[in-house]
Amino acid sequence: MVIYDLICDARHEFEGWFNNSGDLVSQQEQALLRCPVCDSLAVSKKVTAPKLSKKSNSTLVSYPQQRQGQPVTNLNSSSVEAYSKLQSMLTQVHKYIESNFKDVGNKFADEALSMHRGDKELNSIRGTATAEELKGLADEGVTALPLPVKPVDKKKLN
Ligand SMILES: [Zn+2]
Repeated sequence: MVIYDLICDARHEFEGWFNNSGDLVSQQEQALLRCPVCDSLAVSKKVTAPKLSKKSNSTLVSYPQQRQGQPVTNLNSSSVEAYSKLQSMLTQVHKYIESNFKDVGNKFADEALSMHRGDKELNSIRGTATAEELKGLADEGVTALPLPVKPVDKKKLN
């Protein structure tokens, strides 16, 4: 007994049970093999494609990640394009911030608070802050935006 995954020309999928592999062919030849849904005679063995995760879009940033037996070049080309656009956008954001925002290092919270209170001239600053400091800033009504992770510069890796 052999079981085949079958598919008709209207893409109905069903299982076919046969005594042996030749039985499938002879049933097809005698027009005995029909789709149980639409009665179509155009039934063929389903080609089993490698299973791809339906969530491939949501894991965009985890690429390049080779799936089982799938070369990376088989990735949906629009995802790749979107990913590289995102990368260059992030690079620009970081470039802009690095050249236009004053780096205050770990004094970020102090500086932001001083400016907020009017003790210091308003300035665009960047720096680091602990979760506790950020909470303190939020309590004072100061908004600090976390920067997205800087993309890896591939040229520097080599
Ligand atoms: Zn059908």
